[in-house]
Order: sequence, then C-alpha cells, then structure tokens
Amino acid sequence: MKILKFGGKSLDNGSGILTVLDIIIDNYRAGEAPVVVVSARGKSTDALLALAEQACAGEPYEAALQAFWEHQCQDTTLRFEAERVQLERLLSGISLLGECSPRTADELVSYGEVLSSQYVAQALKDRGYEAVAIDSGDFLVTDAHYGSASVFTEASRERCRTLFAGLPPGVIPIVTGFIARDEAGRRTTLGRNGSNYSAALLANFLEASLMENYTHVDGIYTANPSVVAEARKIDELSYADAAELSQFGAEILHIKTIEPLQERGIPLRVLNTFSYGEESNGTLVTAHPRDKVVRALASLSGKALIHFEGRNMLGRSGIDARIFRSFEAAEVSVSLIAQGSTERGTAIVVDEEEADRAVEALVQEFHHDLETGHVTKIYAEKGLAVVAIIGLNLLEFDRPYRALVRNRILPILLSNSVPENTLCLLVRDDEEREKALKVIHGELFERPKRIHLAVIGHGTVGGAFIGQIIQQRELLIAQKNIDLRIFAIADSRHLLLSSSGAGADWTTELERAPFSGDLPEAIISYGQRQALENMILVDNTSSPVIASHYARYAAEGFDIVSSNKKANIAPYADYSYLRDTLQRHRRSYRYETNVGAGLPLIDNLKLLHLSGERITRIHGLFSGSLSYIFNRLTEEPERSLRSIVEESARLGLTEPDPREDLSGEDVARKVLILVRELDVPAELSDVRWENPVPEALRSLSLEDFWARFGELEASIEALRATAKPDEVLRYVGDIVWDDVRQEATLSAGLRLVSRTSPLGRVSGADSCFEIYTESYGSQPIVIQGAGAGAAVTARGVFGDVLRLAEGYES
Ligand code: ASP
Ligand code: MG
Repeated sequence: MKILKFGGKSLDNGSGILTVLDIIIDNYRAGEAPVVVVSARGKSTDALLALAEQACAGEPYEAALQAFWEHQCQDTTLRFEAERVQLERLLSGISLLGECSPRTADELVSYGEVLSSQYVAQALKDRGYEAVAIDSGDFLVTDAHYGSASVFTEASRERCRTLFAGLPPGVIPIVTGFIARDEAGRRTTLGRNGSNYSAALLANFLEASLMENYTHVDGIYTANPSVVAEARKIDELSYADAAELSQFGAEILHIKTIEPLQERGIPLRVLNTFSYGEESNGTLVTAHPRDKVVRALASLSGKALIHFEGRNMLGRSGIDARIFRSFEAAEVSVSLIAQGSTERGTAIVVDEEEADRAVEALVQEFHHDLETGHVTKIYAEKGLAVVAIIGLNLLEFDRPYRALVRNRILPILLSNSVPENTLCLLVRDDEEREKALKVIHGELFERPKRIHLAVIGHGTVGGAFIGQIIQQRELLIAQKNIDLRIFAIADSRHLLLSSSGAGADWTTELERAPFSGDLPEAIISYGQRQALENMILVDNTSSPVIASHYARYAAEGFDIVSSNKKANIAPYADYSYLRDTLQRHRRSYRYETNVGAGLPLIDNLKLLHLSGERITRIHGLFSGSLSYIFNRLTEEPERSLRSIVEESARLGLTEPDPREDLSGEDVARKVLILVRELDVPAELSDVRWENPVPEALRSLSLEDFWARFGELEASIEALRATAKPDEVLRYVGDIVWDDVRQEATLSAGLRLVSRTSPLGRVSGADSCFEIYTESYGSQPIVIQGAGAGAAVTARGVFGDVLRLAEGYES
C-alpha cells in the first residue's frame, strides 16, 4: 500500500488536477492500492482565511465568496450545496460577532480540504473508478489546541484501522489532510502545511510501504533556489537531516512529518506533479541515504537575541533556571542559547514577536539583581536571522567559516546541535542572511567558486586583461573550478555593472553606460546589494585618484590587484596607512606587475625578505622600455636613436611621449617600490636618478621635443664615446643596502656595463634584476624576461588575480 499525497498547487484547476488524476489512476492500475491524501486546492486555505478576516472586519465578503465557489466548482458536476450553506452561516456569524476565534477559524479552513477530497473523489468516479472522500476528522483525534493541535496517536490509529478495514475492496480512499477533530468532536487543524503530517500518520497507521509527496517543485534542495540560484536538488536525504530541515520552515516538510515515517522505516519521496512522466526521482528521504554527506542550508528570519549580562554570576546556580522559568510563564520559546564559560552572560535567541515579552519577563524576574548590579543588562537585539547548515561534519566548517569572514560576515553566535550535525549561525537578517547562504552554499556545494572582479581602466593593459579573462573563463571553470566574473568595468566616464559577469560585447555595453559620481560608492554598494562574494578590485589605470581609494575598497571587503604604481609610490604615510587598513580588514593587495611587468619578482623578493634572507643589493634594468631602446642601440650601432625611439613608441613599448620613459623617472619609482618591499620607509626624493633628457627639452611640447631630438642624441653619443670596446650603455636601477649604517643607497641612471655581464647580454625589451643576498654571496639571483608590453602585463595582473582566487579555495 502506498500513500499519495498531493499539495495545493498540484490540485489546482488546469494541468495540475488533471495530472493528479492520472497519477492516482496509474498507481491504482499498477496494483499499488493507493491511499490518497489531499491538501486544499490551490490557495483555498489562504482564501478562506482572507474571507474570515473580511467578515471579521465587517467588510463585504460576498464577491470574494462568489469567486471562491466559482474556483471550487470549475470542471466538476458537484455544486457543494450543503457546504455553501454551512460556510455562509459561519461567515455571517463571524461578521456579526466581529470576531473569529481560533476554533472558528479551524472550522472555516477545514472546508478547503473537505471540498478538495470530494472534488477528487468525484472526478475519479466520473472517469469510471470507485473512489470515496474521507474526512480525516472521522479518525484523527487531537487535543483542543486550535490552529495547531496535537494528535492522540493511539486512539487515532485504532479508529483509522477500523475505518479502513470497513472500506469495500477496490475503492480508492481520498482523505483530507490537515484537519482533525478534538475529543468533543469539534474541528481542529494540525497547523499550516499540515497535510504532509496527516499523510505520514496515515502511512504509519496503515503500514504503507512508501509515501509519495507530490508538490510543485522537483524535490528538496540544498538551499532555497529563490535565494541561491545555484541550489541543487538533493537525491537522497536521511530522516534526521530531513527533520532538521523541516525545522527551518521547508514548506514541503511539515515539522512533524518525518517522525511517523521514521518510526516504521517508511521511505518518503518528494516529487513534482508538473514533471510527472519525465525522468525524475525527486528526493528520497530514507533511513540509509546512499550519499552520506548530504547537506542542506536553511534560514529563518525574524529572530531576536536577548542579551542577559551580569557580574559575579560565576558559580551562582539557579540563574538559568530562573531565566527559563520566567520564559515559560511568559510563553516565550527559546530556539538557540549560548553561554560563555565565565558566566558573564547568557544570550538567548527567540522569535522577534516574543522579544519584548521575553525582556519584560526577565526584567521582572531579575529586578532585584538589576538593582544590586549583579545583573547589568537585559535587552533585545532584533532583526536577526538563523542560518543553519544541516548535515555538516564540523571538520569541514573551516572553509565556509573562512569564506564568511572573508566576506565580512561575522556570525553573532554559533551553535551546533547535539546530536545531529546541524550548525546554526546567527546573523543580521537584512545585510547578511542571503549573502551568508550564498557564501556557505558556494563553499559546500558549488563548483566552481565565483570570484567577482571590478575592473577599472581598459587601456592597452586593461583592455588586454578583460579580453584574457573573458577568453579563459570557461577553461578556468572546467580546470580550476574558478569562475571569474567581471561584475564592474569602469573608466573615467562609464560604469558597466553586471552580476553575472561581462561578456565579449563589453565595449559596446560600456559605451551605453555613462557614469559620473562617486565610483567607489557605486561599485561597493552594487556588490553589497547583489551580495557578491570574493570581490577583487583590479586597477589598470595610472590614476593616483583611483589608487587613493584602495583603502576604502579594502574596508568594504575587496582584495586589490593593481598594475597601477601610484599607491606604491605615494608618500610613505599613505603607503603604510593602506597597509594598515588592509591588515585590519584581512585583505590582500597584489601588484606583481608594478615592477618588471609579469616577471615573478615582487613575490620572490617578499619571500626572501620574509624568510629572513638579507638582501644586500638589487641591481638591474628595471624598465623594459629603456632596455629595448639601449639594446637596439647596441645591436644596430649605425642606427639613429631617433628611429629606435620612434619604433618602440610604435610597438607600444614606450609611452606616447617617450620622455616619460627616457627621463628615467619610471625606473626611480620602481627602485622605490622595491626598496619599500624591504621595509625601508623611503620616499621618491631619496632616489638619486639621472634624467638623460637635457634640461632644455624637458618641458617642450611633444612636437618641439621631436624637433630638437638631436640634442638628446648628442648627449647620449657623448656618453657612448667614452665606452671601452667591450662596454655598452644601459639605464640601470640600483639599490644598495649598507648594513652598518642600516641605510639604503638608491640610484638610477645611464651606466656603461660590460657586454658580457648579465645586464650587457640582455636583449629585446627584457628587464633584468640581479638580487644579491647574504647566503647567495657574490652570485646574484637573476630574474630576467619580458619587462614591458600590454599582453605580458595583463597576464601578470591575471596571475595576481588567480593567486588570490586560489587562496579563496583553501
Ligand atoms: N491547506 C493547508 C495549508 O495550506 C494544509 C496543507 O496544504 O498542507 O496550510
Ligand atoms: Mg499547502
């Protein structure tokens, strides 16, 4: 024997009810001997309650009642004459008294199920099957707790068996869910969504082999799909986990549903009426689910935390007893409780509506202790929510917890249930509940992990970077389980926002999204509104203004990746303020491309320094652009400097105004960035750098500069003329650490170096860094490779993003 339970949406007019009839008939024909349990059809329960409210308020309800009957009578020969009269009488009574007691309400809503069972039975008869509508009030006996009555199981079981034993064979029983009667025969109900519970009881009483619960969803999900779009259907679930889940208002599982099934080991399958006939097994709730580590997330809003704080409570017994006694008297029910071992205070989670009552009750009970100062504070903190991770092995909590912290959610309270593996977190309802669900879901269930990037700047480097990200996205999902989503792209006049990630058409989309205003504010608040996790700001501009906002982003939960050097050459006070902010908010800032483009320089330098290796000198070609120019000059001695500089500008290796590179200032900045990595609080003015561009040419217009380029060539020629045969010209950056004076000497300038030395042998636009350290002695560590160019720099930025993303993984 099998119990088929149908929910309200399944039974509603249209395809739902027709499929329900098919399902019943198919089961009957297959010899399953189905016993059918029905909810009220569609939203009938709500409609009846609304009618009661109208009547109660003395408002006219006739039109609504008319609509109710039209809905009930669609596609049936039934006219429900008797029920019409009874309902009308009830409503006019309510209207007359201006009052609807819980008992009357139960009487009223019971019609939803009564009409539903009659409707289904009649429809089956119309199709030539024997069916009988059964009012569960004829066998379910409860106490008189109207609105949410408790079933007397043994008495009900006996009556149920007798009633069913008396049914003629072959007839299909269509039983009302949700409703019952008390011992005096008055109508009661089992609480909203109680039909599942009725069905489970019936399964238990009649020793069914299976209960199928037909709903409008495909099964039980790992989280509410309307909050967590990535939620997945759970194939199999243990009774214990299902019961935990039902505590959190999972609508398809009334809180008491599981117990009667578990008692007899009757499996429950949650199925979707609207996908009947398709390959879908829904969710199976059983004693021994195949997959042991199934988990699910749920949340309950509308919670409050009662703070109870005091002094000298240590060892004073009876405080808790008094707390709970006063709650009992005030009918406050407690959901979570936490108490520190020092007994300085107790924190108790209650429903928000009960919070004031709870505080009042405590203040009354402890008024004397408040006067003496033993109890210092009693107050309620409202607007909270409980997020529950069901079926969690605590060993696995490290990842979700770290992810929560990273996303700036610090649970107010943590509590794990004994003995089930449920962990509850108390968070702020508005700002944190949904985000917490998403973040935890991401960690526990989702592959891939989503990383949200806000990219500012789309010039040569920025544009290449965005292109690389979009191009690699699918591959990274497949290979690394990382989903890089660019949720914001901005330049000085546009801002494109998209939580699912920008696509290949981003340039056109960006054009259509003009923006002026506070950019950090716009990006930060969007990220918050969309509850985006793992946010990284990527700055590919050269703007000091954008760089000055890093601390703001960091304080709001962003990590930062930047090819922009401005934050690192800012006055040391600003430099360290940013680092303090980052540390305070546990954020990372990566800028590998600031020196040597994509070369793995800064990371390695940091590692050496942190591991205690004393770095005595860093010496090399810090600028890929200058490297290119002087290499060409070496390799093609007959060629003019002018044609080489023109060519490198054409290749994008130098800035449009080549003086920006030729001046050596960029090298000086890199010297500063590197020496600061060694914890030397230097300023740019501490770097002695030489500008090969003659004074007279420095402030000319670009055109005039080119016109007088010969003067620069002459000064360079003069230098080359002093070279020995094996010497070549290089623009060299140099950091020398004097351990005695505990001081660094910082310089940059044109130098003649041996052609066979590492710096002399460099070719193309390569940068070259020689790092001398104490343990490596006179043999430097040499890091060399392409040190300029949009593509390599963009790859370097990408690398920084990936390193952060990998960190999120662990
Ligand atoms: N009809 C009732 C309700 O809507 C019971 C149920 O559907 O389970 O709450
Ligand atoms: Mg329902």
